[in-house]
Amino acid sequence: MSPEIVKGFIILACIFIPLERIFALHNQKVFRRGWKTDATYFFTGHFIGRFGAIVVAVTLSLMTDLFNPELQSKIASQPIWLQFAEAIVISDLAYYLAHRLLHEVPWLWQFHAVHHSIERMDWLAAVRVHPCEQLFTQICKMMPLYWLGFTTETFAVYALYSAAIAFLIHANITIKFGPLKWFVATPEFHHWHHSQSPKIYNKNFAVQLPLLDLLFGTMYMPAKKMPDRYGISDTVPAGYVGQIFYPFSRMMQNARSKFQTKY
Ligand SMILES: [Zn+2]
Ligand SMILES: [Zn+2]
Repeated sequence: MSPEIVKGFIILACIFIPLERIFALHNQKVFRRGWKTDATYFFTGHFIGRFGAIVVAVTLSLMTDLFNPELQSKIASQPIWLQFAEAIVISDLAYYLAHRLLHEVPWLWQFHAVHHSIERMDWLAAVRVHPCEQLFTQICKMMPLYWLGFTTETFAVYALYSAAIAFLIHANITIKFGPLKWFVATPEFHHWHHSQSPKIYNKNFAVQLPLLDLLFGTMYMPAKKMPDRYGISDTVPAGYVGQIFYPFSRMMQNARSKFQTKY
């Protein structure tokens, strides 16, 4: 196991565990149900992310004819803060669309159901993402950024920011962000996406820019209210291995029952 990933885990734990004690939204244990499963996702997700970066790089190397060098040099010549702001808008728009597909296409939902099986929200819950979903969303988010030619520095700042936001939006904290909540995704925004109430399903698809949900009519962020229960009615297994096989076994079950009703 790479020492950086262990260091990353310890640093995140040292930041979020005290924050979740001091500003706790829900009263829950640090070692809540499913923490071992999510810790496994943390360590394996790092390697899936590296594999995803290779897939993106190889795909792009096969598509060089589609590049626009003039546009790429214009983008790369902009100040880093402007490139960073543009990268957030473009990648979160791509993520928004991919996330809607994950909810609306039945076989894609079987993968995304793993993330929605979380019943206790905290920083570690952020990493419960099926490897196939992780690869799919990583490709959707990163391809437009590489194609447009953002600089390496912009990528470095963006990668750090998007990782920090992912942990923050799942954290069990009650900190309010004032008017900033419309421009930066917060726990107040993303916790509703995990609400157990079917009335609130399919809301808040963005993960960085809540304004996108406002624009597309999928925003739900009532003042002075937070969800009290999280999760879904799908019976997703509790362990890591069970969750990895879950989407495939559901697809086989569905195919079998379709075949049986037909014949
Ligand atoms: Zn979702
Ligand atoms: Zn989430």
